[in-house]
Amino acid sequence: METIKTKCLIIGSGPAGYTAAIYTSRANLSPVMYVGHQPGGQLTTTTEIENFPGYHNGITGSEMMDDLHKQATRFGADVRNGIITAIDLSKRPFVAKADDGNEIIADTVIISTGATARYLGLPDEEKYKGLGVSACATCDGFFYRRKKVAVVGGGDTACEEALYLSNIAAEVYMIVRKDYLRASKVMQKRVFEKENIHVLFNTVTEGLYGEEGLEGATLAEFKGTDKERVYNQPVDGFFLAIGHSPNTGIFKGQLALDEAGYIITEGHTSITNVPGVFAAGDVADPRYRQAITAAGSGCKAALDAERYLTEIG
Ligand code: NDP
Repeated sequence: METIKTKCLIIGSGPAGYTAAIYTSRANLSPVMYVGHQPGGQLTTTTEIENFPGYHNGITGSEMMDDLHKQATRFGADVRNGIITAIDLSKRPFVAKADDGNEIIADTVIISTGATARYLGLPDEEKYKGLGVSACATCDGFFYRRKKVAVVGGGDTACEEALYLSNIAAEVYMIVRKDYLRASKVMQKRVFEKENIHVLFNTVTEGLYGEEGLEGATLAEFKGTDKERVYNQPVDGFFLAIGHSPNTGIFKGQLALDEAGYIITEGHTSITNVPGVFAAGDVADPRYRQAITAAGSGCKAALDAERYLTEIG
């Protein structure tokens, strides 16, 4: 077990965390970063990123994260594999505990813990997790070659997952609770053009069934508020793409959070209600949630931390 002292502890390693690491290490703050449950963050579970400026041919999430990692460590960021399990934000310096047994004593903290995929809350989801239920098509799509799968949701993520799966699976059923897709027009167009994607509007999932693994979903189709019919749709895979929840569990009661649990920051800054604590990326952004906006906010958090340290002297 080590006691590590740092001017800046960065929690989480998506584009926000890595950008904060690049900026703080170049500013000689010798940051320590704990990468968290999903090293590289959510982007490592997506396919191709086509909208990050500068990559005109697109880049995979993992490649981008490898590059960011190299860039951050090149300037001296101390990147640690592990999770911050507890932190005391009530006094400075802040004291954090990591699952590797280390204690980190930090003058500032940048929180970039991101958000995690949401589930519908059906008991069956737990039952079939790893046996057909997944929240990551790029991680698990491979197992459904020429099979039938369902994707729940009507946003950009759901469209992206459905398109990805349509190139692997035989048929893809998109289960959309409203009578329209929330996704961007370009994604909608791609979905509607795919012959093996079937969009089931006004439809909700009532349950899942199967003997040894998942065999299908019980779906209810609505007309207005009336349930028109309930039927069993055979599927081997059931993918959730219904949005995310911010990873703020260890900060509850210590930092101002909004109703949904996102960290509240001051105006256009990364400043939280606790002096010396800054938030960047999806953990503080229920609105944009893009790799590029996360990276931009990681830069802001680094600059805010640097300024704060200068001010307190
Ligand atoms: P969104 O919040 O945009 O969409 C969530 C979808 O899930 C909606 O269709 C919503 O339905 C549905 N949903 C939510 N809860 C339930 C439920 N309990 N049962 C059934 N359906 C449910 O999340 P996304 O993850 O798709 O996107 C998040 C952000 O990231 C967006 O800003 C998006 O544009 C962006 N993004 C951009 C990408 C890109 O540009 N390449 C790729 C992926 C995401 P309803 O509409 O009825 O609320």
